[in-house]
Amino acid sequence: TAEAYQKRRSGLLSPSLSLSYDTPIVMERAAFQYMFAGDGTTYLDAYNNIIQVGHCHPEVVGRTRDALRKLNTNTRYHYDSLLDYAETLLGYFPPPLSRVFLVNSGSAATDLALRLARAFTGRQRVVALEHGYHGNTAAAIAISPYKHRPGDKHPQTTICPMPKVFGSGWADDGTAGRQFSGPCLDRIRDEAEAPAAFIAEPIMGCGGQVPLPKGYLEAIYPAIRARGGLCISDEVQVGFGRLGNSFLGFQKYGVVPDLVILGKPMGNGHPLGAVVCTPEIADAFANGPEFFSSFGGNPVSCAAGKAVLDVIRHEGLQAHAAKTGNYLMEGLRSLGKLYPNLADVRGEGLFVGAELVDGEGNPATSLAARVKNALKEKRVLVGTDGPHDNVLKIKPPLPFDTGNCDELIEKLGAILAIQNNSK
Ligand code: PMP
Repeated sequence: TAEAYQKRRSGLLSPSLSLSYDTPIVMERAAFQYMFAGDGTTYLDAYNNIIQVGHCHPEVVGRTRDALRKLNTNTRYHYDSLLDYAETLLGYFPPPLSRVFLVNSGSAATDLALRLARAFTGRQRVVALEHGYHGNTAAAIAISPYKHRPGDKHPQTTICPMPKVFGSGWADDGTAGRQFSGPCLDRIRDEAEAPAAFIAEPIMGCGGQVPLPKGYLEAIYPAIRARGGLCISDEVQVGFGRLGNSFLGFQKYGVVPDLVILGKPMGNGHPLGAVVCTPEIADAFANGPEFFSSFGGNPVSCAAGKAVLDVIRHEGLQAHAAKTGNYLMEGLRSLGKLYPNLADVRGEGLFVGAELVDGEGNPATSLAARVKNALKEKRVLVGTDGPHDNVLKIKPPLPFDTGNCDELIEKLGAILAIQNNSK
């Protein structure tokens, strides 16, 4: 039972590791967009953005298993899978992004991107966004206000306001982008110490599924570069075709970063991360001590990563994400017309946020928790996030289809109807 697991877990693990849902699930197996609990319950997974091509996709599992049987070593040897994977992956990036470092997590990628930027510029300061999250290493935490504790000091970090259109009163026609970039531009220009880098996600995940407004990055990137800094795009949550219209999030804004951080979906659950950068940045770093990662770029990980890219392409999952995401957001917006608590539906492709507010328009934190738990009772998995934890996060494995959207919308509607009546 869940209670027995809890008892055992609390004797072994830190309580710092949280569990999902009021009654956590004992999970046993999964396939594509479905998860199967130990008690026989089937859940629709509308939440896991790591499992990009579907839980336990046979092509990814098969090719990873075959690689594991043949050779596992490191990048100090030549082997085809490393170069084949690097070549295929870099094929998705515009020039001048043409060098890749392979690591084992999004956090390791962030950490390395910061080292690359600091080595290249000879500076330490990093400009990051309020409520952002970029990883669990000490250097990544320093630029991740999402995880800052009261009283924490991060003297090398400059924080800019979260540029969130909903609730700002500004339209996303360039107005919001101008208004939000203004104070950040002032900080970038006025700070005595010039920045090594600016870092942001194209759509902020932990910040509550917040797409950066149009014109925002278009203003910030040139200002950072004018001071000799580099621009980093954190694509850990949004990358690999999830957004539908573009393979990577920065492409949505017509900017090209100097460094890109990749993770989560890259290995469909196999621990894989990367930094993609320009040849100049990669070469400058080579003037220092050797960079080495014991596991980064090993043949098994390369096989997993290549299989993920092949499946996304063969199954047309990027176009599918565009179509399904539009269908989902339309359905959710129709629900919002019936239930004003569902105040904003935003995102792109299968990276969607649904923000819940109370009758006065304030963040409805407890309603969001009730909705998340009630959806789980109805066998649909979603998460919540944002500074007030009042945004439903919907970012399913990409095989998620319109039938699955109908199920999610119908069940969410039924829950909102009850919550509406019981107020
Ligand atoms: N960047 C972003 C935007 C993330 O969401 C995360 C993980 N939530 C990371 C970096 C860190 O990735 P990992 O957990 O693989 O270390």
